[in-house]
Amino acid sequence: MILNAFNLEGKVAIVTGCNTGLGQGIAVGLAEAGCNIVAVNRSAPTETESKVTALGRQFLDIRADLTSTQDIPSIVEKSIETFGRIDILVNNAGIIRRADAIEFTEKDWDDVMDVNAKTVFFLSQAVAKQFIAQGEGGKIINIASMLSFQGGIRVPSYTASKSGIMGVTRLMANEWAKHGINVNAIAPGYMETNNTEALRADETRNQEILARIPAGRWGTPEDLAAPCVFLASPASDYVNGYTLAVDGGWLAR
Ligand code: NAP
Repeated sequence: MILNAFNLEGKVAIVTGCNTGLGQGIAVGLAEAGCNIVAVNRSAPTETESKVTALGRQFLDIRADLTSTQDIPSIVEKSIETFGRIDILVNNAGIIRRADAIEFTEKDWDDVMDVNAKTVFFLSQAVAKQFIAQGEGGKIINIASMLSFQGGIRVPSYTASKSGIMGVTRLMANEWAKHGINVNAIAPGYMETNNTEALRADETRNQEILARIPAGRWGTPEDLAAPCVFLASPASDYVNGYTLAVDGGWLAR
């Protein structure tokens, strides 16, 4: 039956940055579809843990700072120690720095590129090695942005990182599809999380943004859950290197 293609019963999914926001919505969605969750966070993912365990799924809490690549080997090792395998990686953790391009600092460039681009690539590489060793393929889902498609304003390193992620998603798909590994991305539109608090607090910007969203509302973490389950499941086995916008129609405008 077709709905079985979306079933993730017993699969193991690593989700980075899932103590809050979109990552929490994704982790809970994957758990609802049947996944045990490896949660990679800097701070305690208390609320996410209780939501996932309430669904009867297992939850492994790994603390790591994704500003650097140093914790990557232990993320893979601890996942294997606990669950014996990895099936899905969602690279969700990300940061943003806002300043006029004319004044933008090297630190704000490097910090954002490190978390949003460098660590995403090297964590994907480490997990892809594990997928290849397991011999049964795997699913990698990167969280991109509207600024994978557009230029944005006052967020140069964020635009560079998210545009880069869309490209590297294609590259990884090209190289790893032969191993049964699907690499795709989701580009969320304007979503209600900590990341967009400053935008929503600015009434003028808030109204400008809302006026451009055909759906007429900001997105929520729950809006990402089912698209992520699709890309994590056999339902998307022939989808490779694609960035799916989940944006209430923003890009269609
Ligand atoms: P958020 O609420 O700020 O959550 C970001 C997550 O990333 C948090 O769990 C955060 O952990 C984690 N993180 C940041 N730096 C980290 C580091 N060095 N090491 C480990 N974890 C780190 O933002 P969000 O809106 O849910 O964003 C999630 C993803 O969606 C990001 O990649 C973002 O760029 C992308 N996105 C968001 C929107 C939107 O409208 N909200 C739109 C497009 C794309 P801490 O709590 O410890 O900081």
